[in-house]
Amino acid sequence: MPQIFQNFINGKWTDSKSGRTFENRNPANWNDVVGIFPKSTKEDVEDAVSAARAAFEKWRLVPAPARGDIMRKVGDLLVKNKEELAREMTREMGKVLAETRGDVQEGIDTAYYAATEGRRLFGHTVPSEMPDKFAMAVRVPVGVAGIITPWNFPMEIPTWGIFPAVLAGNTVVFKPASDTPKTATTLVDIMMQAGIPEGVVNLVHGGGGEVGNAIVNNPDVDLILFTGSTGVGKQITRDASSTLKRVSLELGGKNAQIVMDDADLDLALEGVLWGAFGTTGQRCTATSRLILHEKIYDTFLDMLVDRTKKLKLGNGLLPGSDVGPCVNEGQRNVVASYVEIGKNEKANLVCGGKIASDGELSKGWFYEPTIFENVKPEMRIAQEEIFGPVLSVIRTSSLSQSIDILNGTIYGLSSSIYTRDVNSAFKAIRDIKAGITYINVPTIGAEAHLPFGGVKQTGNGHREGGWAVYDFFTEWKSVYIDYSGKLQRAQIDNYE
Ligand code: NAP
Repeated sequence: MPQIFQNFINGKWTDSKSGRTFENRNPANWNDVVGIFPKSTKEDVEDAVSAARAAFEKWRLVPAPARGDIMRKVGDLLVKNKEELAREMTREMGKVLAETRGDVQEGIDTAYYAATEGRRLFGHTVPSEMPDKFAMAVRVPVGVAGIITPWNFPMEIPTWGIFPAVLAGNTVVFKPASDTPKTATTLVDIMMQAGIPEGVVNLVHGGGGEVGNAIVNNPDVDLILFTGSTGVGKQITRDASSTLKRVSLELGGKNAQIVMDDADLDLALEGVLWGAFGTTGQRCTATSRLILHEKIYDTFLDMLVDRTKKLKLGNGLLPGSDVGPCVNEGQRNVVASYVEIGKNEKANLVCGGKIASDGELSKGWFYEPTIFENVKPEMRIAQEEIFGPVLSVIRTSSLSQSIDILNGTIYGLSSSIYTRDVNSAFKAIRDIKAGITYINVPTIGAEAHLPFGGVKQTGNGHREGGWAVYDFFTEWKSVYIDYSGKLQRAQIDNYE
């Protein structure tokens, strides 16, 4: 019998009022049911928001260092449970074990960062223009935060939202992706074990259209932190505007790696293999375009195709698997349809291009790592996010042309250039339009203590990660303290 899971509202595990449920299955073996989860409704969201609203009035008064102490315990529990969590996550969403271990580690890093931020949350003191007057700006929590997350980093992305939200004194209503509800449940359970008081973190499972939409439209939710597709991000922006909520969006990408003719080709090869096919290409920062200098184009392409053909597809829990399945059937269908689009656009398919169904692979949603070459920058496979193991290779003849091609999409999340020329590297840092630029590093590999996010249609200017996310989760309050004992009129008395 599959295990049955519940929502977590006001400190209690509880079923959805709807009584409805949904199944979650292992993408590497569709016969394996991970669990049964509540298919929640607007009513469940309202209960969670009420609990979060009530808890906020107490939680905001807990000193930030004490909130940080709880975050440290959360980090310790994640360390203790790292291996078990990673295995659970691979079973739930398919990426290989080394990667889910990394995903948990990012959650650990984020917890410990939050713990120390409890003793910072710096404000500003500035001189007043008046005598005998003190001026400062302090950070205050905002209120109830709705956190809506995707499935591809089922631990890291929720922790990037929930930990800073809570550390800063906000309370949370968390809606995880329907493909990764189990990891979310374990994370919330760990937070409770660490001592997060009731109502501070509430978990509501269910579909984006119903639960996510109800969170975004609830007038008592002050903040929305959303990570997911650009289409849903635009919808959320429209919906949230009716109550003027603050919204942070981390959306899609069409990231590129440039390889110049002076690059260390072996290093660049390792980079693109990891960037394009790690997490089965299902990362917002995945390398989806490879921009190759014409002088090394043929040599590098041969090296790349040779190594890609040797990548071993398989269940991420088994040693030796390099690439896991797509997360579900729908996502695999999207990949297959883009391969058809690429063929119709007359790009040259040099590797993969098929559903993988040999032996055990037939039980899951596997797709062969795929490479198109002779791709033109304007083709759909070079412009649209595919979110799967498909790489488009584009020929270029100069640094400036490479950067123009890299910049030529609606997205601007991650970017990479391999070169040994320091001048080229610095020009790329200056001219690439992206939230992240890597030099001699693939497009993936963000660290928890730096700002994370993108420009153009990848986001709306906010950043997750590091110190930057605390700007999202706090309001500035300016405070003036006059100890002169008389009315002092700013801008007037001192200029008369
Ligand atoms: P998605 O379909 O946009 O879903 C993301 C989350 O939003 C899920 O929890 C989903 O619920 C929910 N949702 C769906 N429709 C909604 C609505 N109308 N209102 C409110 N919430 C709604 O994205 P995904 O397929 O899970 O993830 C892949 C996308 O995320 C890619 O575009 C990728 O680039 C992007 N991503 C971006 C970043 C970044 O930091 N920039 C990081 C990771 C992923 P259900 O699961 O129930 O549908």
